[in-house]
Amino acid sequence: MPEGDTIAYAAARMRPVLEGHVPEEIRTPQPRHALDRWPSRLSGLGVVGVDTHGKHLFIRFDGDLVIHSHLGMSGAWGVYGLGSRWGRSARRAWLVLSRAGHEVVEFDGPLLELITEGRRRFDQRLAALGPDVLAVEFDRELFLRRLRADDPTRPFGDALLDQRNVAGIGNIWKAEGCWEAEIDPWRALGKVTDEEAMAVIEAVRPRMALSAREGPRSIQPRVYRRVGRPCPRCGTPIASRGQGDANRTTYWCQGCQR
Ligand SMILES: [Zn+2]
Repeated sequence: MPEGDTIAYAAARMRPVLEGHVPEEIRTPQPRHALDRWPSRLSGLGVVGVDTHGKHLFIRFDGDLVIHSHLGMSGAWGVYGLGSRWGRSARRAWLVLSRAGHEVVEFDGPLLELITEGRRRFDQRLAALGPDVLAVEFDRELFLRRLRADDPTRPFGDALLDQRNVAGIGNIWKAEGCWEAEIDPWRALGKVTDEEAMAVIEAVRPRMALSAREGPRSIQPRVYRRVGRPCPRCGTPIASRGQGDANRTTYWCQGCQR
């Protein structure tokens, strides 16, 4: 699943194409959007800004209209030069915004909607999101407040994946952050101190910011998908096991993560 850094990278690539400009063409090839009339509703409107909060991306237009997307497990954004090959089949494209020889394309689901700025402000799902891990100023107080309101018996790694606690961390950064902070992702949340929880955030922020700038391929995982390989810190083979309701595989070192 694309995490906050991947979404921020996509936003950074689409900004020069869209921000401050009126798209030349807007297409919604997916049949489910055929009746939504996005091309006519957005016709002639300029893009005011492209921003992100965790895994959510917003393209804000003049006239208080906002395209909101969440890629879930399957979606992707791409920015391509006109005529160059897309990263996925054209049949999977849900939205294409064209301008100045570039195409900004959203592929697959599950969430792509056109809403008003007012609805965005009052959307319960969005209001429930925790602080954005990639925000310039991370809201430490809100993060710790949400964490302390959560079930103290819940495994810490699982609590980190909960977007109501912190927005933007997914399976990769959960594993990497727990490793950096030397915390066992299975430890109960109630047994993790505020300082330890913050150490995870402080460890992943610069690495996620690098990935947001250079692209997700720049990530060099220490434990994620490295089961059986030696821990870079202590040499113990990396372990893996499914965690949480969604049974997402977590990776950790039993030698140095407590
Ligand atoms: Zn280790």
